[in-house]
Amino acid sequence: PVKIDSWKQRKIRWDEIDRYMHGGRDFIDDGALTSAIGANRAPDPARIRDIIAKSLAIETLAIDEAAALINVTDPDLLAEMEAAAGQIKRHVYDNRIVTFAPLYLSNGCVNNCRYCGFRRENRSIRRVTLSMEEVRRETEVLCGRIGHKRLIVVYGEHPVSDIDYMVDSIAAIYDVSVPVRRGAGQIRRVNVNAAPLCIQDLERLKTVGIGTFQVFQETYHHATYARIHPADTIKGNYQWRLYCMHRAFEAGVDDFGIGALFGLADWRFEVLGLLAHAHELERAVGIGPHTISFPRLEPAENTPFLQDARLRVADADFRKAVTVLRLAVPYTGMILTARESADTRRALMPLGITQIDASSRIGVGAYADGTADHVQDNRQQFVLGDTRSLDAVIRELAQNGTITSFCTAGYRCGRTGKRIMDLLRTGREGRFCKLNAVLTFREWLDDFASPETAAAAQAVIEQEIEAIGREQPERVETFMNYYRRTVAGERD
Ligand code: SAM
Ligand code: SF4
Repeated sequence: PVKIDSWKQRKIRWDEIDRYMHGGRDFIDDGALTSAIGANRAPDPARIRDIIAKSLAIETLAIDEAAALINVTDPDLLAEMEAAAGQIKRHVYDNRIVTFAPLYLSNGCVNNCRYCGFRRENRSIRRVTLSMEEVRRETEVLCGRIGHKRLIVVYGEHPVSDIDYMVDSIAAIYDVSVPVRRGAGQIRRVNVNAAPLCIQDLERLKTVGIGTFQVFQETYHHATYARIHPADTIKGNYQWRLYCMHRAFEAGVDDFGIGALFGLADWRFEVLGLLAHAHELERAVGIGPHTISFPRLEPAENTPFLQDARLRVADADFRKAVTVLRLAVPYTGMILTARESADTRRALMPLGITQIDASSRIGVGAYADGTADHVQDNRQQFVLGDTRSLDAVIRELAQNGTITSFCTAGYRCGRTGKRIMDLLRTGREGRFCKLNAVLTFREWLDDFASPETAAAAQAVIEQEIEAIGREQPERVETFMNYYRRTVAGERD
């Protein structure tokens, strides 16, 4: 038995909220964001082109500028915005994509978010928390059979998955090493999606070596937030959540993943809320978000939240939201998850997406037991839209000239937070990482790819080697030396 009530009271540290608030107010001004949308109606095309030019110079946009982009309806101007979004992605991240898998470790939760199948009042869900042995088994499938190097681990908020459990499970994941064709399958970067934590707990996550710390605000709209997150729950505290990246920075975790759950409030408001969050992080700690996520609300088992049809984000609006976010925060990574269908992901990719998941399973324990669909036995949060394998996704990306990078060297060398931001803003990261992208892609192809995927990827590898020769002649010799060693079986 777990005493949840006293645990809940201890969880929120009011002093760790107050120290960042200004005059008792947080930095999201609902009125100002709403009026920005109204005040920037029917924007002048010349102004829009000036704003696009600012994005192309990799500068974060102002709220009014993003609001003007949101209001663009002219198809030609929209096409210009989309073209610029793709250009920014290539400038900052080159033709690279990063892949990862979600790993759900525990679905127990003390909160009662009205849209989520894990909420505490959902009695029909089967609650599961993986043992360390089960965590290892899931990881073995992910890094030994599928070939993932990056995970996002997901936890509900509950004493059974407290900070000790989080630290132990992440350490267990890093510990796994599985022999594969030539090298060893290992997870190299564990990102975390969890409830907001206090500074002390975040320090422990830092010690165990996490990558990005991801917490979605869900909705930046205060009144909507209060309506769907009951006040008697930890999650009912808007500011505890809003300032968790400030606390993360104090704890030494400097790759922040922010996000909004699209469909809870007006999508245009959420885009501006995410931008305001990026501004605040840049202002307060000098580092913007490492990634932005924009999940669209999915129907979930036995949830009372009946989505207002007017708030459902139509495909065309979602496309615009992604484009505006790309232009508004040009340096940030953008994650599009397998909640979306393969067709939607294909269509949105050219607008500047940098990270996608593949071979995903979101039932707790679903990788090791091989069950694709855990809706039936009630372990799963919602139904996935894109269930393609990592191999199939990589093949399709390669056919479009995109290289999947498995490189995690940057993080090991301390290229996180401000250092990586500076490299991204100046376009140096794109160039710098090309070499490691090719080497780690070669490793993956030799260790995991099907013959069809290996064949499709060969053309991309050759194209990249040629580009290195053209763009970085001074490094070709060293690179080719590493490349030959990789082909011969040496590993990162
Ligand atoms: N419990 C932690 C929290 O709430 O921050 C982390 C785990 S929670 C399962 C991860 C994310 O799932 C949430 O931040 C929310 O955005 C998303 N989510 C919850 N219900 C969803 C739904 N019905 N459709 C799509 N995404 C959902
Ligand atoms: Fe719990 Fe997170 Fe689901 Fe809310 S969204 S019920 S906090 S798991």
